[in-house]
Amino acid sequence: MTGSTLRAGLHYPRSVGELQAWFATDEDCLDYLDWLRWPEGFVCPRCENAGGWAVADGRYKCAVCGARTSVTAGTLFDRRRTPLTVWFTACWMFAAQTNGISALSLQRLLEIGSYPTAWALLHRLRSVLVRPGRDRLTGTVEVDETYFGGEEPGLRGGRQKGKKVLVGVAVERREPKGFGRCRMAILADGSADSLHPFVTANVEPGATVVTDGSSGCKGIDALGYVHEPHSRRAASEAGEDVGALLPGVHRVASLAKRWYLGTYQGRFDDAHLQSYLDEFSFRFNRRRSRSRGLAFYRVLELAVDHDPVRYRQLVANPRPKPAPPTPPADGGHPPSLDRPRADRPWRAA
Ligand SMILES: [Zn+2]
Repeated sequence: MTGSTLRAGLHYPRSVGELQAWFATDEDCLDYLDWLRWPEGFVCPRCENAGGWAVADGRYKCAVCGARTSVTAGTLFDRRRTPLTVWFTACWMFAAQTNGISALSLQRLLEIGSYPTAWALLHRLRSVLVRPGRDRLTGTVEVDETYFGGEEPGLRGGRQKGKKVLVGVAVERREPKGFGRCRMAILADGSADSLHPFVTANVEPGATVVTDGSSGCKGIDALGYVHEPHSRRAASEAGEDVGALLPGVHRVASLAKRWYLGTYQGRFDDAHLQSYLDEFSFRFNRRRSRSRGLAFYRVLELAVDHDPVRYRQLVANPRPKPAPPTPPADGGHPPSLDRPRADRPWRAA
């Protein structure tokens, strides 16, 4: 469904109170996922025919091929062990809070049994955020590289100590001022072999690409773009502000680093940096949306359209960081969240 046909309070919850009233049980959550996955009614994922009926075990039986399919089979929620009510609350905290949430905070807030469970849950949500090749940047797009990690993030050249990772940044410029959407990806190095695939994956052909004219940027015009190199040397010789050549890249890179260090308390995790870059881009690209619930809806919509993500894929080489020390539990359970049932407004819409 497109943004204009979606209504707060009908298609997605407006507030955490509404979230809790709508999704009081796993059954409510399952019905919402059913509606997101098959808004026009059940379509068999095996033979792609529409039509079927609910059978006693809660699955659908295809009217054509007879295959049985559950609502969550083949989605991000496939074979889950965490209750859907916890998934939905976690998704709200992840999507509806401006800066997101760390695994440790999530574990404490929802009394999730182990840190790795909370950590994996957030990484599964992160993994749905970017669909490669879709929604590429358009218009005038600044492209440059920056370093993450090391002692002085953002310093150009090989002057930092410690581990650092080169990241490609692309940002749309808006006229007369301001910036549109951004994309970021880890690069092997600053060569054309690394930078060119980054540009073609993230910028729509025909766009104007503004760069600093470094050697890795040469040849961008041959890829179907209008290339506008702004040489740093020429700018400094002309007495211009070199830092202002690519203001969008500069702004996005510094916001991303500040967000990363603030939300994750400086626990720099280069093994999973790409998924954090995707999470930042998702937030940045929705920074003007006043509706928190819409981001929650978008994440779930992407999740029912996404393949399952297994734990071994998340931890495949290297492992997640060990859990930080956990404060002693007070032993008590949180007060009940029971409240009057809402009557599934998304169905009445
Ligand atoms: Zn079928």
